[in-house]
Amino acid sequence: MSDPGSAKVLVVGAVNVDLVVSADRLPQPGETVVGPDVASHGGGKGANAAVAAARAGAAVRYCGAVGDDEMGAAALAELSDEGVDIAEVARVAGVSTGAALIVVDPSGENQIAVGSGANARVDPDRVRVAVSRAADWGAGCVLISTEITPRAVVAAVKAAADKRIPCVVNPAPVLDELVEVLSIPDILTPNSSELRDLYARTPSAGADHGSLTETEMAIALAERLEVTVIVTLGADGVLVVDPAGGATSVPAGPVETVVDTTGAGDTFNGVLAASLAAGDDLVVAARRGASAASMSVGHVGARTGMPTAEAIERAAL
Ligand code: ADP
Repeated sequence: MSDPGSAKVLVVGAVNVDLVVSADRLPQPGETVVGPDVASHGGGKGANAAVAAARAGAAVRYCGAVGDDEMGAAALAELSDEGVDIAEVARVAGVSTGAALIVVDPSGENQIAVGSGANARVDPDRVRVAVSRAADWGAGCVLISTEITPRAVVAAVKAAADKRIPCVVNPAPVLDELVEVLSIPDILTPNSSELRDLYARTPSAGADHGSLTETEMAIALAERLEVTVIVTLGADGVLVVDPAGGATSVPAGPVETVVDTTGAGDTFNGVLAASLAAGDDLVVAARRGASAASMSVGHVGARTGMPTAEAIERAAL
């Protein structure tokens, strides 16, 4: 990375507590399955990406919301332990911290129910203030993921543009409100299903998008919105498309055994943001993000396999 020590990133997005039960099989409707234990991990796309960016060497502020419960305290303690600044996080009284209830079967297949809790209470005004303070701090990138109050997503996108801070939006999920402001951020980072969703929901979408390749769709979207589109393609790495339609394919990193792809996209986004904030050019930043994300899929859990700056640097040699 050009200068990871100088990279400053603000991440706006969701934080969850993931409660994971491994069972012999997934439950049918109305059925109870019993596993030997329950594991609790920090999760949520925003908080995961904040951890990935911090491990990659950036100074990271995270803006989101937790409830005034023990889960919230635990989630914030985990972020602090990773060196993420949590001063912009709201603790919302009388609301639960966001939680994901996850059952995993022996093949790795899962079933997930998410309770948004405080993530659905992220206050747009608070987000605007956090972006403004990030501008004064000298943030080189604002990374926004969309599992929070839609109005807070829109507020973050507009505030980053007002303050001229380069802005990356991970459109997961593609919110109706986000579609209205899609041409404002500098970079969109959909995965392949989000790319299809974005393409279908932007104004001049043709009716025949089913027949287009991902590359054709990404080029059309980038030209139409005049933004950079980086599509994450799982084992196929990422595709970087600039607003003029120029496309560069970046391969995934080598992986011995894929153990768990949870959080791969979050790792990509966090490391991309850290690398951009450090002054790397777009394709270099995408390469670092893809390489880091591939390292993360060799480990169980969203955050366990997220690499350090040293590991990312070694892989880049
Ligand atoms: P999301 O988690 O948002 O759906 P992807 O599945 O596209 O995102 O993964 C993001 C990045 O993680 C990929 O671009 C790639 O670098 C890495 N990755 C994901 N799955 C694999 C895999 N099976 N092998 C190698 N790298 C992977």
